[in-house]
Amino acid sequence: MVQMYDPLVHPFPDGRQSNPDSYWSKVGQETPDDDGAVDSDIDVDVAIIGGGYTGLSAALALGREHGISATVLEARSSAWGCSGRNGSFARISGGRVPWSTLVKKYGPDVATAYFGELRQGLETVRALIADGIDCDKQPDGVYKVATFGSHVDTLKREEELYNSILGYPARFMAADSLRGIHEGPESHGALHLPDGFSIDPLKFAQGIHRMARSNGARIHTNSPVVGWESKGGAHHLATPAGTVRAKRVIVATNGYTSSQLHPQLAGRILPVHSQIIVTAPMTQAQVEASLPSGSCMFDTRGLLFYYRRLPDNRMLFGGRSAISGADAGAPRHRQYLYDAMTRKFPALAGIGVAHWWGGWVAVTRNSLPFCYRVSGLSDVFTAGGYAGSGVSFSVHLGTRLAMMAAGKPFETGATFLTREPERYPFASFIRLGQWMAYRWLHAKDAREVRKAD
Ligand SMILES: Cc1cc2nc3c(=O)[nH]c(=O)nc-3n(C[C@H](O)[C@H](O)[C@H](O)COP(=O)(O)OP(=O)(O)OC[C@H]3O[C@@H](n4cnc5c(N)ncnc54)[C@H](O)[C@@H]3O)c2cc1C
Repeated sequence: MVQMYDPLVHPFPDGRQSNPDSYWSKVGQETPDDDGAVDSDIDVDVAIIGGGYTGLSAALALGREHGISATVLEARSSAWGCSGRNGSFARISGGRVPWSTLVKKYGPDVATAYFGELRQGLETVRALIADGIDCDKQPDGVYKVATFGSHVDTLKREEELYNSILGYPARFMAADSLRGIHEGPESHGALHLPDGFSIDPLKFAQGIHRMARSNGARIHTNSPVVGWESKGGAHHLATPAGTVRAKRVIVATNGYTSSQLHPQLAGRILPVHSQIIVTAPMTQAQVEASLPSGSCMFDTRGLLFYYRRLPDNRMLFGGRSAISGADAGAPRHRQYLYDAMTRKFPALAGIGVAHWWGGWVAVTRNSLPFCYRVSGLSDVFTAGGYAGSGVSFSVHLGTRLAMMAAGKPFETGATFLTREPERYPFASFIRLGQWMAYRWLHAKDAREVRKAD
């Protein structure tokens, strides 16, 4: 069997990589037309490496707002990476830093500016849906649910910060008022965020793909960039059957960025594996005893779980456990999610699992996203580092990359966004550090369980 693509090990996702056993690819629409593989040497103005939300949104914005026809080079098929296989929550989110830490580290003005960027991200998604992308958008509403009683005070403090510093009407709900929304023993209260909804993520990506093409973009699938040289004022991007010479390059490979793509980009993100199970349809009694609400949910564990009830009454349940690509297919990771789901919702004990898949999210050293011009390379721009929370923000930063590639600055009060992320030191020990962090977070959660007993 071919080993799963692992960005820290392999040079690019090659044609032997299988498609995920994702729920979305089973219910999704017809695959949109594309421009096939690059089959000769070509000269282009802007090349975009990676055909997920970031790359497709950049291609759309270049065509629609800047009159530039971009060329997307995607290793496999459009949205083959995270964008076609995620948990489906479009929220005001990006990165994984608690707001209290962000305010402490960068101050209230920068934090508020960042919140503004994230809000724009969600509005960009809404606008694309309003423009005609049919992606089964569900009603707004996001709940951050206290797994343990001891997490309630933290949620109350977060409510206060949202309201007083970010000017956003988050609302703490006590355990009683969660009845009929979120059931089970891990329902100790929740922070309700009024904006945010779930979608069919693959249909959404396919919609952007179609729009980008009808605005002049060319989308080459099965066209991995396997080599990169800069000479004579152009970037020579080698694909298996032709070289693309580009004046400007947008790198939109995010968690799928191989350490070997370009030395200037290596070591700036850690690819972290996130996995999802989708169950068989629940009975009405199981729905009522678990998740009567169809809203987006995530919990307050150190290694958090995210979950929702799908329109056909299946449970989608995701979280992180595997460290490397070689290990990600081990059945114990599927069992880990199943055990967590049935601990949260005992009524689901024994239910079948219909789908199980995973993908690589990108985590930077400061756990915050980036969108910057790459130093030492002429006219190369990149964005990513959403830390598993990038459905809306990747679409937004795609529009910002397009702006930068069109020669306009991306001016933002969220100053950290436009800085080159620091490299991880001791690259070969990164995964050991991640394994230790996971052990520590599990031990922390176990202490909370013991305290609660
Ligand atoms: C299991 C899972 C659940 C998630 N759930 C959520 C959620 O509920 N909400 C949320 O906000 N976020 C979620 N995310 C994260 C979100 O999906 C991502 O942040 C977002 O899709 C990133 O989009 P992107 O375009 O930057 O990257 P991707 O969609 O990963 O696209 C990168 C593309 O680059 C291509 N590529 C890589 N190397 C090369 C090369 N050398 N040449 C050509 N192409 C190349 C890859 O094939 C890939 O298609 C989840 C992610 C996963 C994996």
